[in-house]
Amino acid sequence: MKALRRFTVRVHLPERLAALQRLSINLRWSWDRPTQELFRAVDPELWQQVGCDPVGLLGQVTPKRLDELAADEEFLARLDALNAELDDYLTRPLWYQQQIENGAEFPNGIAYFSMEFGIAESLPNYSGGLGILAGDHLKSASDLGLPLIGVGLLYRSGYFRQSLTADGWQQQSYPALDPQGLPLHLLTGADNKPVLVRIAMPDDRTLHARVWVAQVGRIPLLLLDSDVPENDHELRSVTDRLYGGDQEHRIKQEILAGIGGVRAIRAFCEIEGRPAPEVFHMNEGHAGFLGAERIRELIDAGLDLDTALTVVRSSTVFTTHTPVPAGIDRFPVEMVRRYFGGSGADGPDGEMSRLLPGVPLERIIAFGAENDPSVFNMAHMGLRLAQRANGVSRLHGKVSRAMFNSLWPGFDPDEVPIGSITNGVHAPTWAAPQWIELGRELLGSEDLDKLREPAVWQRLNKVAPEQIWSIRSELRRRLVEDVRVRLRRSWLERGAAEAELGWIATAFDPDVLTVGFARRVPTYKRLTLMLRDPQRLEKLLLDEQRPIQLIVAGKSHPADEGGKALIQQVVRFADRPEVRHRIAFLPDYDMSMARLLYWGCDVWLNNPLRPLEACGTSGMKSALNGGLNLSIRDGWWDEWYDGENGWEIPTADGVDEARRDDLEAAALYDLLEQSVAPKFYERDDNGIPTRWVEMVRHTLIALGPKVLASRMVQDYTEKYYAPAARSLRRTVAADSAGEPFGAARELAAYRLRVAEAWPDVRITDVDSYGLPDTPLLGSELTLTATVQLAGLRPDEVSVQAVLGRVDESDALIDPVKVPMRHTGSGDGGTELFSTTTPLPVAGPVGYTVRVLPHHPLLAGDNELGLVRLA
Ligand SMILES: *Cc1c(COP(=O)(O)O)cnc(C)c1O
Repeated sequence: MKALRRFTVRVHLPERLAALQRLSINLRWSWDRPTQELFRAVDPELWQQVGCDPVGLLGQVTPKRLDELAADEEFLARLDALNAELDDYLTRPLWYQQQIENGAEFPNGIAYFSMEFGIAESLPNYSGGLGILAGDHLKSASDLGLPLIGVGLLYRSGYFRQSLTADGWQQQSYPALDPQGLPLHLLTGADNKPVLVRIAMPDDRTLHARVWVAQVGRIPLLLLDSDVPENDHELRSVTDRLYGGDQEHRIKQEILAGIGGVRAIRAFCEIEGRPAPEVFHMNEGHAGFLGAERIRELIDAGLDLDTALTVVRSSTVFTTHTPVPAGIDRFPVEMVRRYFGGSGADGPDGEMSRLLPGVPLERIIAFGAENDPSVFNMAHMGLRLAQRANGVSRLHGKVSRAMFNSLWPGFDPDEVPIGSITNGVHAPTWAAPQWIELGRELLGSEDLDKLREPAVWQRLNKVAPEQIWSIRSELRRRLVEDVRVRLRRSWLERGAAEAELGWIATAFDPDVLTVGFARRVPTYKRLTLMLRDPQRLEKLLLDEQRPIQLIVAGKSHPADEGGKALIQQVVRFADRPEVRHRIAFLPDYDMSMARLLYWGCDVWLNNPLRPLEACGTSGMKSALNGGLNLSIRDGWWDEWYDGENGWEIPTADGVDEARRDDLEAAALYDLLEQSVAPKFYERDDNGIPTRWVEMVRHTLIALGPKVLASRMVQDYTEKYYAPAARSLRRTVAADSAGEPFGAARELAAYRLRVAEAWPDVRITDVDSYGLPDTPLLGSELTLTATVQLAGLRPDEVSVQAVLGRVDESDALIDPVKVPMRHTGSGDGGTELFSTTTPLPVAGPVGYTVRVLPHHPLLAGDNELGLVRLA
């Protein structure tokens, strides 16, 4: 008989061991090795059995064992020391506090919204890179002392577990999670009752959600859960699965995450006595409705919609993660209308939203407008509700500026106000203990904070090649052991008998060049590129002198039959007795498998279709462990490949896709055969591949400080959070008459005036003076423009001379922009602007003049997407 529901009953800990409880529910243990070792010591066998999960461990350890430990002085001393260390970690001033001490103007709180969070394998609330990134963001925010609150959903069954059928087809299962068995506690109010967030649904229904709190070091992570008796049957299942269900299901999830998320934060801050966060960060567009909810709050507090929008924009940061339009979340406008609309109450701007009272429905719809009027675009909403936006690598920033150019018409793509911050990975989570230990030795300190300083990594120059090689070899050996265990499990699951599996004991070799390829399986990642020429791959695997072994893993979205077929292709190739000891597809890629792969693989392979990999982080985790990347120049690798820290697979642009796959696969085989393997197998008298080891050393020194999530979170803080907080403080400040939000009102009124005036703004004349007959580089040119400002004041616009090289069609290439000064008024209400500037380049040169709106509270003159050219 199968139980309908399961839950976890925890044992009663002896008083003396009470701190174990506390250490188990703060997820800091997941990146603190000494705490993990302490839990292992409780019961090493059980620790493995429960998958290294402290809460699971404490749920099953015998009372007898606990009594023993309560009398074990050595254990108690370790426990007390780690408990004190946690206290210290949670309270001592860190980077953020030090920066404030030094005068930095940082926000007093940041709310970080994401649909998934990958913190630890025992909390499988993620599907892939986006979630792991969000988890690493929280951990680094904790290490740096940011006052950040994470917000997301708690899924009943998280992402799926993957297994394979006998013929290699992906199977999904969805084990239910039991919140009581997870390191979570319910947010409760003063009455000790769980807080319930409420959201109006169509047909007079209400969606309720309770709020679980996970503690990630210093960072609280609020997870909304709709599985409560207050909901009707259908609404209970809103948080059943991550990325499962249809659009109707998904819009409810996103309404809950965005709108419910803001409400959860308000309740949490009130209960905890924390200040309301100043800055809101949307990690991808899924939680974009949070901006609409904040507008509703401000309207409720007495602001008009445009002022509220100004305040929300000033304090919102939007990060886009996809370089493909098809990857963007979109809903039918009709669906958004159904969920948000229909109050029947009319305001001056038409019908008010029922879900967000006081906000006109049409304005909400307009936030998500795109060129197809029947579609509501979540990324466009994110960009319209955030004054600051970024992509996740330099190349992805560039691709995003082009992709979203239509929101800033009239501007060249490079002027679209979307910046970039390259992703990073959390070193204490992803670096092998051997490297962490070496790092501590080289730092002469337990404190890994200094890893952010590039100079510190130079100390690796003092480490002997033997030591580096011995760490690499040991990590490879551990990986091979793990691969054998997983292979056996998978073959048994697929119906093999134990007696047929003798070969697994010697499958894979701890001394063979090990290449890893693990990631989700959307088409652009090209899981099967390596199979383009199966004979050639087989030859590389089985080479007598220089063999290669290949470990492949990855999950396909359950609805993606094409992805499953790719997996099957790999499985069928790898199943054959000729090669199965050198290539394997391991099912159920997750954080625990990933970690051993990053530790142990010598080479990390990545072959996406450029530029579709926004950043990619698995290669960074490999690099942090001395793995060498072998990758298409996409995402982060485009930026940081330096010729010596790995290999680039050249991109074959401008040919059809099949031909491109042929060319890029051939380049991959060539590199493996002619560069990678020879270097790995070239040994000195002591058996050390010295040239390889030097590449490992160089990779660590060059990439180590760059790929860190702490670098990323610092960048976000300095380039996005702090400017957003400053903008917010300026917009909410009182005006000269003492009215709060005075500046926001002014800016909102300015936006409306500019929008109205803009069609009539024009440059009527441009005159040039001063150039000699044969202009030379550096010759001075004076430009004067006559501008009709249609009622705007001269100081409310920015007039620029734009000069540079021109191509055959007179298009300006990378022009310089020179501000023009207001010099007086002309005829017929015009204004005159002028500048004198040296010619910036030689060759065919051209110029023009343009007018842009200008206001001190805008993040830039391009922000509003308005421009008038001469
Ligand atoms: C890092 C990581 C990813 C993301 O890898 P990509 O390079 O972005 O494909 C996905 N899944 C897991 C488990 C990871 O650890």
